[in-house]
Amino acid sequence: MFKINKVFKKPHYLTLQQNNLQEAQKEKNALPAIPNGLWIKCKHCGETIYNKDFNANHKVCTACGHHYRMNARERIDLIMDTGTFKEINTDLKTVNPLDFEGYEEKIADTIKKADIAEAVVTGYGKIHGNDSVIAVMDSNFMMGSMGSVVGEKITRAFEFATAKSKPVIVFAASGGARMQEGILSLMQMAKTSAAAARHDRAGELYVTVLTDPTTGGVTASFAMLGDIILAEPGALIGFAGKRVGEQTIGQKLPEGFQTAEFLIDHGFIDKIVTRDNLKLTLSRLIKLHYS
Ligand SMILES: [Zn+2]
Repeated sequence: MFKINKVFKKPHYLTLQQNNLQEAQKEKNALPAIPNGLWIKCKHCGETIYNKDFNANHKVCTACGHHYRMNARERIDLIMDTGTFKEINTDLKTVNPLDFEGYEEKIADTIKKADIAEAVVTGYGKIHGNDSVIAVMDSNFMMGSMGSVVGEKITRAFEFATAKSKPVIVFAASGGARMQEGILSLMQMAKTSAAAARHDRAGELYVTVLTDPTTGGVTASFAMLGDIILAEPGALIGFAGKRVGEQTIGQKLPEGFQTAEFLIDHGFIDKIVTRDNLKLTLSRLIKLHYS
């Protein structure tokens, strides 16, 4: 007899987009090589830079300005006033709703390695004294993919902010939907978007910061719904990968068409903000809206 749940019990496979991202990840994201811990070599410009300077510069190359990826905790430290951040919805745990082989083990392993419970950390605190609810995605956790818990945490962050009349700032970083959760992952797109819409109708501010990489179902939902959409320099931002796009439209795509710089030239985003200016920019936007 045909069982509907078997539909989702696919063997291990990667979508083209996830495969491309993983390949790109190997080359691009790997942190600069660390010969002896003191010095690192920038994979972008080849300069050797002092590791301490690199970290003090919030993982931006001091020679060429290339923005390396930050994890969620580093991002929170960068943006929130010291000691003000309080995490919310920490009790939501990822389960294996479709009985996808190996998913529980993968989650348990990733929790240990990435040192966070899921691919997004949500909470509230102050940005240069301005109250804000934030959701910070972390690409170290299964490529920041959006499963049920990620969608639920983002939705609850919006609802919390709406109830308290506060802005929401989302730092997006995602490979897209969580394939191990199938259709349950896809429905997070609608759920998060609806929560963003209710927050919007209440007259509250929503700002998104697109970081490297922002792709797939996250791009196709809340990441592109900000009243103001900011991006970090050089960030990969797109929906499907280049190969999928070319096959679909039957045309060659231009070089760099999924970078923050290309998107600002074509009106998709509002501003590219370097990391050293990000906190000040966000605090000014909040101030403008709420004063
Ligand atoms: Zn560099």
